[in-house]
Amino acid sequence: MKSSPIDNDRALQHLMDLLSIEGPTGQESKVVKGITEKLVAAGCKKSWIKTDDAHKRLGDGYEIGNLIVKLPGTVKSASRIMFSAHMDTVPLCKGAVPMIKGNRVVAKGDTGLGGDDRSGCAAMVTLCETILNEKVPHPPITFLFPIAEENGLHGSRMVRFTDLGNPAMGFNLDGQFPNELVIGAMSAVRWEAEITGLSTHAGLEPHKGISAGLIGSKAMAMVAEKGYFGKITKGSRTGTSNLGSVNGGEASNQVMDRCIMTGECRSHNAAFLKQIIKVYKESFAAAAKGVINDKGRCGKVKFTVINDYNAFRLKKSEPCVKIASKAVEAVGLKPNPLVMDAGLDANNFNEKGLPTVTLGTGSHQFHQVDEYVNIKEYLAACEVLLNIAKLAGT
Ligand SMILES: [Zn+2]
Repeated sequence: MKSSPIDNDRALQHLMDLLSIEGPTGQESKVVKGITEKLVAAGCKKSWIKTDDAHKRLGDGYEIGNLIVKLPGTVKSASRIMFSAHMDTVPLCKGAVPMIKGNRVVAKGDTGLGGDDRSGCAAMVTLCETILNEKVPHPPITFLFPIAEENGLHGSRMVRFTDLGNPAMGFNLDGQFPNELVIGAMSAVRWEAEITGLSTHAGLEPHKGISAGLIGSKAMAMVAEKGYFGKITKGSRTGTSNLGSVNGGEASNQVMDRCIMTGECRSHNAAFLKQIIKVYKESFAAAAKGVINDKGRCGKVKFTVINDYNAFRLKKSEPCVKIASKAVEAVGLKPNPLVMDAGLDANNFNEKGLPTVTLGTGSHQFHQVDEYVNIKEYLAACEVLLNIAKLAGT
């Protein structure tokens, strides 16, 4: 077998460089600049590179759009494929300084590393550079670097397929082991309960007040008693739910008249997710009715749900799954198809009709201070991507 055209030293350098750039959600400009410079140096024409207007459509708090790079194909008959890896990192990664420690890249100080998902970005840069420098025959390829993945998959939700050149299939890079093929992921919703009570003096006339805090506490206790808090198992159906924030009250001597609680619910089963939400809604409604003042008045709850993303399940016969499996086998690894307990940009692509499988690029312990990238796995992932491009071009 001919040895790989990938230059491992350069691949590692791309990883180290991109890990050094700060780019929390909404502030991806420097990442766009860093990736663009690398791609231009690799031989991309400036006319192939653009950013879209996703940030404008998302509103305040987003400084730049999704980075989209469209490579023309050398195999003209092949349909366009897409690779994607999100640019933003979680706040824990602010100020990260990457360093090599044995077979790993770790953060020097007390921060996250940002291998989620700069390892995916670096693997894509490596692929693009290898294809252009080594003149590897390839189909038309779109490289998409979405913004704002970490706070709810917003960049990928906003991207227009026409801007992507309408690819036929997608390969999203956002995971751990290079042989992992995510062929399904779950649905998730965020919820908010806006609780209204009645404020009175807590020492003189507490019986005249209606405590929003008590309503919220009772509601959450009911949810938990019914078995719908945290990890949820009802027969063969599973899911999760969480109370993420509680904000209410002004003073300790005042009955709390307003409280806002927020949280989330997830499940692989869309019908069961609806059931979890129903339990939350009913519990808040019952709790509101159950907290009564001396005049027989009760509180109110406005319960709203925001749909974050919908579950998907790819068939193993789907071309992107078949190509990814073959590409993994070609580096001597065994493909491991799995279903994820979290949302991915691929949820949005699949939902809108672009079949997309997600692969890992050696990144581990996401969103933690001990986050690291396994160098061997990262380099294997670079080989897998090159194989995907080759296979899709035949
Ligand atoms: Zn990620």
